[in-house]
Amino acid sequence: MKVGYRGKLILLCCFLTFLALAVSLPGNTASFFADLELNLEKQIGRSSYESICTQMKVVDLPEAEMERLNDIFNRLVKACSRRKELQFKLTVVEEDSVNAFALPAGYIFVHTGLLSYVQSDGELAGVLAHEIAHVDRKHGMSALKRQLGMALLLQILLKDASEQITKIGNIAVNLTQLGYGREAEYEADRYGVYFMERAGYSRTEFLSFWNRLVEESGGGENPAILQLFSTHPPTSERIKRIKALPLTPTQ
Ligand SMILES: [Zn+2]
Repeated sequence: MKVGYRGKLILLCCFLTFLALAVSLPGNTASFFADLELNLEKQIGRSSYESICTQMKVVDLPEAEMERLNDIFNRLVKACSRRKELQFKLTVVEEDSVNAFALPAGYIFVHTGLLSYVQSDGELAGVLAHEIAHVDRKHGMSALKRQLGMALLLQILLKDASEQITKIGNIAVNLTQLGYGREAEYEADRYGVYFMERAGYSRTEFLSFWNRLVEESGGGENPAILQLFSTHPPTSERIKRIKALPLTPTQ
């Protein structure tokens, strides 16, 4: 986003006003910084989304098929806690491997390889819910903060340097590809199962997806399948933990 001199001046005035408010009303300080961070997440998410759209081939599925996917997706989004502050978006990309990934601010990508691999809506819902959970729990932003430091991120936001945002967007893409670490993955499984069950799907389907993947990836002969494992903790441990989760209360 390019902002001219006048825009920057307005932004600076807004910032100073907010800062004055934040200082005079300590109770509001937390929400002030939360707003700032949310704004930053949206800019980084948008930028990394655009970067992926130039790197990968975005697929336009037939209208009815896309509607069906969005229907599953929206049911899951409705079950997550950040549904009101973010606009979640699902994008399909041409890629044979069985995979999906999430960028900050709710941009979720699925590979065509995943769509042809899943055997039911519930299996797909399980994978999508896991990705939505990464966004809901802010794993992308936490990874960026660890990598760059929050002070630097905020400084960039206040300068409104679009070039810097693009750079950070690219870092966010790389972090997604590296995975968010073992604990974040377990947390995404936990919340993902909760979201899918609230949306009316069963974890049994997610588990059958995993069991099939484990069986078929056998001796690691299928690189298309292996990609999904490479950034995540051991699958046997994930399956065990998912089975042990308490059942989501029905509303
Ligand atoms: Zn994950």
